[in-house]
Amino acid sequence: MTSNYLQTAIEFLRGVGPQRAKVLKAEFNIFTYHDLLYYFPFRHVDKATVYHIRDIQTEGNYMQFQGDITGIQMLGEGRSRRLSAQFTDGTGTMELVWFNGVRWMEEIVRKNCHNVLIFGKPTIFNNRWNMTHPEIIDPNSNNGSSIKQHFFPLYNTSDKAKRAGLDSKAVAKLTATLLLDLQGHPIPETLPQPLVAQHRMMSLQEALFNIHYPENQTKLAAATVRLKFDELFYTQLKMLKLKLLTERRFRGHIFSRVGESFNEFYNHHLKFELTDAQKRVIKEIRADMGSGRQMNRLLQGDVGSGKTITALLVMLIANDNGFQSCLMAPTEILAQQHYANISKQVEGMGIGVALLTGSTKSAERKVIHQGLLDGSIRILIGTHALIENEVQFENLGLAVIDEQHRFGVEQRAKLWKKNRIPPHILVMTATPIPRTLAMTVYGDLDVSIIDELPKGRKPIITKHLYERDRNRLFYFLRQQVDAGRQVFVVYPLIQESEKMDLLDLQAGFDAMSRSFPLPRYAVGMVHGKMPNDVKEYEMQRFSKGETNILVSTTVIEVGIDIPNATVMVIENAERFGLSQLHQLRGRVGRGGVQSYCILMSGEKLSSDGKQRLDAMVSTTDGFEIANFDLKLRGPGDLQGTQQSGVLDFKIADIVKDEKLVSYTRELARQILEKDPDLTRPDNKILSEQLQERMKQEKFWGMIS
Ligand code: ADP
Ligand code: MG
Repeated sequence: MTSNYLQTAIEFLRGVGPQRAKVLKAEFNIFTYHDLLYYFPFRHVDKATVYHIRDIQTEGNYMQFQGDITGIQMLGEGRSRRLSAQFTDGTGTMELVWFNGVRWMEEIVRKNCHNVLIFGKPTIFNNRWNMTHPEIIDPNSNNGSSIKQHFFPLYNTSDKAKRAGLDSKAVAKLTATLLLDLQGHPIPETLPQPLVAQHRMMSLQEALFNIHYPENQTKLAAATVRLKFDELFYTQLKMLKLKLLTERRFRGHIFSRVGESFNEFYNHHLKFELTDAQKRVIKEIRADMGSGRQMNRLLQGDVGSGKTITALLVMLIANDNGFQSCLMAPTEILAQQHYANISKQVEGMGIGVALLTGSTKSAERKVIHQGLLDGSIRILIGTHALIENEVQFENLGLAVIDEQHRFGVEQRAKLWKKNRIPPHILVMTATPIPRTLAMTVYGDLDVSIIDELPKGRKPIITKHLYERDRNRLFYFLRQQVDAGRQVFVVYPLIQESEKMDLLDLQAGFDAMSRSFPLPRYAVGMVHGKMPNDVKEYEMQRFSKGETNILVSTTVIEVGIDIPNATVMVIENAERFGLSQLHQLRGRVGRGGVQSYCILMSGEKLSSDGKQRLDAMVSTTDGFEIANFDLKLRGPGDLQGTQQSGVLDFKIADIVKDEKLVSYTRELARQILEKDPDLTRPDNKILSEQLQERMKQEKFWGMIS
């Protein structure tokens, strides 16, 4: 009965009606009482504190002042007609302005000139403090009800809503009406009582009251914690429950042994010692693939941490257990590089490796299809061409997806269907995302992290240069090239005009060619619009050291591995996002030689652009960069998280509430470990709530 009450349609609330209901639905997704109740204010205004004009630090905060009005004037004509009043509190002066209802306001202001409280947002206009449409309160009048309301909620609204009379104040009135009504209809708990008690949390009922109209700061804080806990806990419970369901639904191929091909490769072909992190990750993956469950694992590792070799070793384990593997890369260039490297590394071991991309000729394609069906091809490398329906395997046991954030959900899902029992899935990403975010966005995947770079790497030196430093840049590049090193020069793609972009690139290429005129220098160029074979040819030339300088667009952004390239020049660096800059920088610093990243920018920079370049100069740590990015842009914009929708929190903040994310995940894990089906009586509420919240969700485990 009570929960039904919360499902009452919003038009039945006093003060709403059909017109406003329409706006509430369209603008805020508020359809029911419940929705309004969960439409939280973004901030509260503290009406208990009186500030001094002298002490105002920034514009745009709601504040309250006490003082006298010393002059009133009506200004302007027609539409620009306005009421202006001088206000002083003894520490400074401020102009108060009204554009609406000026006649009526004038009367009110004239009546309340001495010792009034004014409330609103101070802003700077013509070099002085100014407040439009302040609230005026006479402290001597006994109905100072709005002052007693110490914490007043502020709600996000939209222009459309405001035009329909639904500004923040109006929404506040509605929530007040609703909360009053609800006193007769208790709100049912969403967490089991023992859990609430154990954490000394506020009840849901009290939290929902206090989140809108808190009695004091302490209660507001407690309400916030309670509601964040709800949100994060159920997110984690949902993720872990889904992981359980997936594990039950799909058996996994059992890779029980490490055999000949792994051992031979490890002992005779591997040119370096694996890092401890690589060894640990391989162990984690082995354990997973031997367990009888289907593996769904995310492998994270900063650029250059050596994910490819890790994946290759795992593919060899698949081979030792009689299964084929495939490795899917987001670009043709990267697929080609993986193919070249891997076939060279396993040379002489009798392992069939093939490359399948969009530009594979149809005759060759047929041969590959046959080789996959008869099992002579053990490792297939390719772009998304390898998920096409006609690509069928004899027995696919493992699918590796490199730079997984580049792929769409549907593309990944197709890999699942390549065998009767779905293959083990390993998705790799160099886009470092903070742990808590990974837990949430990929909450139903297991996560392995390579948190160590191979020994002997020198940190890349990053410099930010301006246009006026260009001669210095050329001088430096010449030194590097003369020392036998290679250089990338990358131009951004500004999609509005492809033609202009290519002209930019061409101009850059010409400038480079002019600056390196001697025959011992060679400059190459690649971009996405080139035919694939030309692209490949240019990449090969650079890879073999036949060109010293490669001018390119971001086609080389991901994955490219050319250890002799030690300088990355990024033109118009301010136009790139942080994670992209980090990826590009990761193309150098792969050998033991000191590498450099040079960020070129125009003289004029936006503050955002400047902050990004400063961040790049200050650290080479991908996780730090990611955290920085998160702060600059917010989690919704991070690569790979957009489509997931799991970050639509109403109140929790995945970055700031990191501890609570970890805590609730562990709690959810423990609960499911003891009672996987949530059938115990004390878990009844959890089970009901979970069902409610699992209705329409997408999960990575099923789709990755
Ligand atoms: P990413 O993780 O960015 O995909 P790669 O797999 O391309 O990195 O590896 C970067 C470079 O480091 C490659 O040239 C690779 O051969 C080399 N490498 C990988 N692991 C090690 C190691 N343990 N010791 C030395 N070099 C390594
Ligand atoms: Mg890579």
